[in-house]
Amino acid sequence: MARIVMKFGGTSMAGIERIRIVAARVKREVDAGNQVAVVVSAMAGETDRLVGFCREASARYDAREYDVVVSSGEQVTSGLLAIALQAAGVPARSWLGWQLPIGTSDAHASARIEAIDMTALDASLAQGVVAVIPGFQGIDGSGRVTTLGRGGSDTSAVAVAAAMKADRCDIYTDVDGVYTTDPRIVPRARKLSRVTYEEMLELASVGAKVLQTRSVGLAMKEGVRVRVLSSFEDARDDDGHRGTLIVGEEEIDDMERQLITGIAHDKNEAKITLTQVSDRPGSVAAIFAPLAGAGINVDMIVQNIAHSTGSTDVTFTVPAVDLTRTIDVLEGARDNIGYASLVPDTHVAKVSVVGVGMRSHAGVAATMFTTLGERGINIQAIATSEIKVSVLIEEDYTELAVRVLHTAYGLDAAE
Ligand code: ADP
Ligand code: ASP
Ligand code: MG
Repeated sequence: MARIVMKFGGTSMAGIERIRIVAARVKREVDAGNQVAVVVSAMAGETDRLVGFCREASARYDAREYDVVVSSGEQVTSGLLAIALQAAGVPARSWLGWQLPIGTSDAHASARIEAIDMTALDASLAQGVVAVIPGFQGIDGSGRVTTLGRGGSDTSAVAVAAAMKADRCDIYTDVDGVYTTDPRIVPRARKLSRVTYEEMLELASVGAKVLQTRSVGLAMKEGVRVRVLSSFEDARDDDGHRGTLIVGEEEIDDMERQLITGIAHDKNEAKITLTQVSDRPGSVAAIFAPLAGAGINVDMIVQNIAHSTGSTDVTFTVPAVDLTRTIDVLEGARDNIGYASLVPDTHVAKVSVVGVGMRSHAGVAATMFTTLGERGINIQAIATSEIKVSVLIEEDYTELAVRVLHTAYGLDAAE
């Protein structure tokens, strides 16, 4: 007998027919003698629809009320799956975030899970009743509903798996594993049978939305064995593997190690340029300190050296959803910073190449710049880490850039 968490994403929960397929998958694990907790997402498109309502109601909506609205999608699917399981003869009960409870911070719309009370869950598992838990939601210290940020059901699943010391956390989705890049953009992307926590963390953080970044960080910290696999098919690859297993670096042998693991893109960043910022100690701090104070994450930063003019342009990126707030903050701090104009640009995309092999190999960045240059794709900003190189480009070139880089690093699957 194993203790397992099964998580089903939005496409897998989109409609009663699909929920029945999910119920059949859960039943199989129960019939095999396993103790099962299931974490579910809202139906595909539902969270977007709910976010749209909030925006329509007010451009500057209250994050507490946003959480009340957007968490409702998962309430519906958790109840529906419990009904479908019962109809299939599997004892099941839903547990909303506030009922377990799943305790979180009070950072509404991007709360962090702090503690999961195992009392009800343990009792349910011991009685052989499948616990169906809506992902993405929790409750803060003052008793208000919170959500964990988009894609947060992955994090709910890993947190539940860690709390119940599960043997496995299986993330069922609409692709059959983690690929070298988004298989919807590059049909010749290759499925990885294993990927390290570190590489997956980096890939997720630069836009590979197959797993929420926080879920990977949590799995790494808690040693949760995460597998990504398809809800719709049971295909195994040539080595007999299903899906992709996220593993520790020590579990990957030298033969498997690749220079580049994958390529990701992110169209959810916005670029801001402040022109003629005076070149003096403290001027950069005057820009970024108020943004940090407002909880806005700055990603890429470019600043040129001032020559004779004594001033320079400063360019940086923020999440596109934070653009309005960023502009408000910078206009409020304008006298203190001292800039001539603020130029926002949302038609940008970040394309990143990730791989632990970069630590020991030179030339990865040069290959990237040359490949993009040959296609006439201009690079607007660059950021690097030990195992990643990212560039900011015009949004229209995203798919082309991902495709040519995939080929340039030798990642294309054989025809
Ligand atoms: P779910 O609703 O199941 O959580 P998501 O839409 O959040 O599913 O994530 C799955 C999607 O992630 C896939 O449909 C795919 O388009 C996208 N994706 C992006 N990068 C990758 C990658 N490297 N490997 C696999 N899928 C990826
Ligand atoms: N339904 C939420 C979203 O769309 C959470 C999730 O699916 O993981 O972001
Ligand atoms: Mg997801």
